[in-house]
Amino acid sequence: MGDNMKDFSQKIYNLRKKHKISQSDLGKMLGISNRAVSKWETGISVPSTQNFVRLSEIFGVSMSYFFGEETKIAETPRGMESLTELYKVGRGPSSSHTIGPERACIIFKDKHKNADEFSVTLYGSLAKTGKGHGTASVIKKTFAPKPCTIEYNHNGGKIKHPNTMDIKALKDGKIIDSSRIYSVGGGSIQFEGEKLVEKKEIYKETSFREIADYCRQKKKRLWQYVEENENKDFYKFMENIWQEMKNSIENGLEDEGVLPGGLGVQKKAKYLYNVQHIDESAQTKENRVVCAYAFAVSEQNASGEKIVTAPTCGASGVLPAVMYYYQKKNEYTDKEIIHALETAGLIGNLIKTNASISGAECGCQVEIGSACAMASAALAELFDLTIDKIEYAAEMAIEHHLGLTCDPIGGYVQIPCIERNAVAAMRAINGVNLASFLSDTRKISFDKVVKVMKETGHDMSCRYKETSEAGLAKIEL
Ligand code: SF4
Repeated sequence: MGDNMKDFSQKIYNLRKKHKISQSDLGKMLGISNRAVSKWETGISVPSTQNFVRLSEIFGVSMSYFFGEETKIAETPRGMESLTELYKVGRGPSSSHTIGPERACIIFKDKHKNADEFSVTLYGSLAKTGKGHGTASVIKKTFAPKPCTIEYNHNGGKIKHPNTMDIKALKDGKIIDSSRIYSVGGGSIQFEGEKLVEKKEIYKETSFREIADYCRQKKKRLWQYVEENENKDFYKFMENIWQEMKNSIENGLEDEGVLPGGLGVQKKAKYLYNVQHIDESAQTKENRVVCAYAFAVSEQNASGEKIVTAPTCGASGVLPAVMYYYQKKNEYTDKEIIHALETAGLIGNLIKTNASISGAECGCQVEIGSACAMASAALAELFDLTIDKIEYAAEMAIEHHLGLTCDPIGGYVQIPCIERNAVAAMRAINGVNLASFLSDTRKISFDKVVKVMKETGHDMSCRYKETSEAGLAKIEL
């Protein structure tokens, strides 16, 4: 990536400020959400070519203002990051409101073992929606047993990022150190004054077709391709990811009561697991148990407990539910499940690289739809199906989630999110069954459907992209 490319975020921010346009208004002009604009300005993502053209029209600058001497726009991604950037362990329900702050507190706490108390000030969106998203409770849990006071600064002052927090370490009542931290999305954080670590693109192939061609030529499975590209500690990392997924299902099945947030949503995983249909067939039981597992993880997420992003917090229940069910049913080893999770990660990574996994940018199709595609690919891998069949299963999962909106009621990751995880888990299993019979006749490739999903997401009104302005989000309970 050239130096000019690195300046995109600053240039978009400067132009927006100069024209006195809010992130939300710019988002409306472009038909995207304010969070998508925020992601550009913090370097989390880069606008599409179409949006660069619109930005130059809105701000009255030429395209070369953004690209300098680089007149060609890199339409095709140049590589893909490690799966360790996709699968993250943290507390739900939101990667930027809980996983990011939690990671910041862990680092700061570790640096100040001699402190006897901490204090945190939340700004911007962290102050406005931090209570609903459980930011404060995650922070307190992370600093425990040491006390931590939390302040909400709604005025914000001059903050560079909507998700900003200050942390102070205190000893004998005196401040011994403080840091300003930005939770820049996807659970990533940046300490002010420290350089953002450049993300490494360790996979050079960026399409399913290229990867499949390589694997066919070398007679490798997709998980082998993943392990070939990742480093020597990767398998250990994946062992932990699978363990955390199992923990969240097992903890979720034990949990009862009402989810936090005031919607009065009852936790149902345990009930679903134990209840019986009056005329329960093997098929009904399978659906019920798979749904119970998906509910278990999603309810843990909504309760601010630990989950694994797969690919996001809101969609974290689909993949573990399918894997856990099949491990129990067919006694697959942990190693076999981990290989399946590696294939699933590859599918998630391709979507993240070529489209998006952010509901704020492209709607729920890229969260639940991607999770369904990952679970489908994982199950097809577990069944030892061919690469063609794995591709078909993943493609089908996306195809039948196209256009799905992100409109959670009250902004809580509960309704419809939890049920969506369960339905997507059942759909993944059905999709794999269909793919195993029909892949020879398919007409649409995985790469093509990912492209369509991205275009659909960008065409979708921002009212349906995590803004709580339309759809189910408007229903009053
Ligand atoms: S509706 Fe929105 S918040 Fe809920 S799972 Fe889908 S993308 Fe995530």
